[in-house]
Amino acid sequence: MRVLGIIGCPVGHSLSPAMHNAALQYWGIKGVYVPFEVPPGYLEEAVAGIRALGLWGVNVTLPYKEKVLRYLDCLTPQAELIEAVNCIAYRDGRLEGHNTDGEGFLRSLREEGGFDPKGARVLILGAGGAARAVALVLGQCGAAKITLANRTREKAEELAAQVYRRTGTEAEGIGLDARELAPAACRADLIVQASSVGMYPEEEAPPWFDPEWFSPRMLVYDVIYRPRPTVFLRHAAARGCRTVDGLGMLVFQGALAFSWWTGLEAPVAVMREAALRELGEESSAAAEERAEHTVE
Ligand code: NAP
Repeated sequence: MRVLGIIGCPVGHSLSPAMHNAALQYWGIKGVYVPFEVPPGYLEEAVAGIRALGLWGVNVTLPYKEKVLRYLDCLTPQAELIEAVNCIAYRDGRLEGHNTDGEGFLRSLREEGGFDPKGARVLILGAGGAARAVALVLGQCGAAKITLANRTREKAEELAAQVYRRTGTEAEGIGLDARELAPAACRADLIVQASSVGMYPEEEAPPWFDPEWFSPRMLVYDVIYRPRPTVFLRHAAARGCRTVDGLGMLVFQGALAFSWWTGLEAPVAVMREAALRELGEESSAAAEERAEHTVE
């Protein structure tokens, strides 16, 4: 029996067990994916537990994606670039850290948004873990300029400096004051909402972002997937922008992790349906398929 899981605090809300258990079942793998809530102060013991119990691997979520690095034996280039780990594999007695958040975002941006970030002017709202993954992969892909706007301005400035140092892409950090934010928003080709503002249960739009700044030539992405769409995306769509929500990023980061652990192609559609069921949604295709199955 193979055991995968997710470590974080809290983990009760995670959609990963549903997605990965569906993928394990799809491939007929005798295995299970379990949520492991790790209380503050127990991260080191939890990581030692992966080795001691011979787990196949785990995902890592808030608040441990950065703290976990010091307990691992090696990192993949993506984890080194982002300086955060969202999945760990235990192979040949070694704990290897990887990051699929950035690549998951890119795949969603390209496949669902039809957007090529090369040469794009980008505005990212937020400078936390999600913004870090997004900014660094967009820098790596050759975005023309990245502006990070964050409540704590110093964090945006630090991340911008890191993006420039690591990828050579021009980057700046600003605060949320309209005098700075408005020009950055109006000239952007791509706006990525990567702060936690608008997430369930406080589903308001960021009060510091004026919907007047949206224009139809932009792609607007919100990394939040609960609710779907966010109020921010609804404002953007009402102004004629193309919009993409964070479910695709979540599903693709999971699919990339599943392939990395198992060496198998991830059943992306199956994982997506499992996530949608957890969210209380279901695509019409899946609903029809289930209805037909019931009739038979
Ligand atoms: P995080 O590291 O805690 O960062 C939170 C960010 O939101 C920070 O930039 C913070 O600003 C900002 N923020 C929080 N409250 C704010 C407020 N009232 N006004 C203005 N800014 C505020 O969290 P994270 O990991 O980046 O996650 C951010 C969001 O992304 C969450 O909703 C999460 O669910 C989502 N996410 C989605 C995926 C996916 O696969 N789709 C992956 C990862 C995360 P300060 O720095 O000033 O505190």
